[in-house]
Amino acid sequence: MLTYRHAMYAGDIPSLSSILSNPAFVRSFTLRRLPLCRAAFLLRQVLNGLRTGCDISIIAREELETHLKDECTVSVHSCSFKEAGCRFKGPRFALEKHLDESSQQHLSLMCGVVSKQQHQIASLKSALSRLSLNYSGTLIWKISDFAAKMAEAKSKEGMELVSPPFYTSQYGYKLQASLFPNGNGAGEDTHISVYIKILPGEYDALLRWPFAHSVSFTLFDQSTCPEKACNIVESFIPDPTWKNFQRPSREPDSLGFGFPKFVSHEMLKKRHFMKDDTMFIRVKVDPSKIVAV
Ligand SMILES: [Zn+2]
Ligand SMILES: [Zn+2]
Repeated sequence: MLTYRHAMYAGDIPSLSSILSNPAFVRSFTLRRLPLCRAAFLLRQVLNGLRTGCDISIIAREELETHLKDECTVSVHSCSFKEAGCRFKGPRFALEKHLDESSQQHLSLMCGVVSKQQHQIASLKSALSRLSLNYSGTLIWKISDFAAKMAEAKSKEGMELVSPPFYTSQYGYKLQASLFPNGNGAGEDTHISVYIKILPGEYDALLRWPFAHSVSFTLFDQSTCPEKACNIVESFIPDPTWKNFQRPSREPDSLGFGFPKFVSHEMLKKRHFMKDDTMFIRVKVDPSKIVAV
């Protein structure tokens, strides 16, 4: 009798020629001298379907895949936690038993997967933030919804906006601008104040300290006619005796250095410094300049 174990066609279903050349098949015709009708019956079985090795004896070719996947009692399956590291393999009944008995083991495998993925997410996040960092030495800081921020600053003392951090060059100093809408120190209640802070950066150990580049702040006049625009610019060269320009510690809390009276609230209403409730401030670091402009 023809019997093909699943192992024979677990991958591809065997071709007719390979079945016909199988010694068992040949023997069944030649040695047993099968009557023609029996031989025809067997051939029809081969042509129409395949014998299985489990309790379902004959199955149509087109149903074989579904049978092996969902019904067969002898075909071997991997545990559904294989990707998490479970190495169990077995027939359906054993797999069901394994799943029932191994929930603790599967749970701890999944915990391992989760913590591995958390590490991957963290390293992707830090790679992404490095990619999106500005290394040009020039920050264009867009501050929108300014009226609401000003109102908040008037009711909350010391309210400060901070810019995204940026680098003076690829391996340079890490800086951050800050702005007090309602002023700070000498500019309190009358001016907007702007400052630059030095943040702990990746390359601090290789850089010269104190920080000595000139820094300029520009408030843009957003006039539609560029030749009529009149920006406000203030700049400084760092005073080497100031502790703000020394190498920062890991947790900087310094105010930074800048202009408490950068632009008065009155001036802010003039020209087109504010447009659509938005202002633009450029912070530019120039390593070559030795004179402030
Ligand atoms: Zn089966
Ligand atoms: Zn398992």
